[in-house]
Amino acid sequence: MLIDTHAHLNFKAYKDDFEQVVKRCQKKKMSVVNIGAQFSTSKRAADFAQKYDFMYAAIGLHPIHIFDEIYEAEAYQNLIHDKVVAIGETGFDYYHVDEILTKGAKSIEEISNKQQEVFLQHLKLAKKNDLALICHGRNGVEGREVYSEMLEILKQEKVERAVFHCYGGDLTIAEKIVENGYYIGIDGPVTFQKKAEEIQKIATEIPLENILIETDCPYLSPEPHRGKRNEPIYVKYVAEKIAELKKISKEEVIEQMWQNAKELFRI
Ligand SMILES: [Zn+2]
Repeated sequence: MLIDTHAHLNFKAYKDDFEQVVKRCQKKKMSVVNIGAQFSTSKRAADFAQKYDFMYAAIGLHPIHIFDEIYEAEAYQNLIHDKVVAIGETGFDYYHVDEILTKGAKSIEEISNKQQEVFLQHLKLAKKNDLALICHGRNGVEGREVYSEMLEILKQEKVERAVFHCYGGDLTIAEKIVENGYYIGIDGPVTFQKKAEEIQKIATEIPLENILIETDCPYLSPEPHRGKRNEPIYVKYVAEKIAELKKISKEEVIEQMWQNAKELFRI
């Protein structure tokens, strides 16, 4: 079964035609995991999962939003039900530091410390409820490497199930992530014609058993829809690209992606 393991149908980008987007997913008989980025969108993701059979949810406060609102563990705890399958997205974002500095943070160090604090709180919630963790990372500050920083924390805290969603690091770190039993999330950029060498190399080299396919919609539309709003059905283009790179069939990729998602999220 086709699955988009990282979607944001809970975002405003779908407010005008949500029903049509849902119908297109249903026609494809696919599954979708909607990911929260703030409390409001986490709640919406959890509500959707209750309403629609094919939807699952993850709840969390995205690292770019930690100065917009306070992370309250108990409020998130109260959102958890059977179809909430993960905590996140959470992690480190050094790409949007200028934006976060306008929200009350005073320095990059303060941002990094706060992101770490909130990341650890998410980790605790995931452990407490025996749920997977969805890690968001984005580099952008000289001398800091978010993916290895997150990996060290996961190892230290003995996190068992996690995905490095929309992976943007290099192959060496990807291999370490995989060695530790975690997943690499691959998105639309793997289909791009330019600046896609590293992620294509990663998709080729790392085992299929450690990959998840995602859209991160409404963002990051794959070719041939690049530049337009993304949606879950387009995750098939990511699967097709991985099949091409690994020289295997698209069906094999889609089936393994479903098995991987079932294993990570216990669905
Ligand atoms: Zn996302």
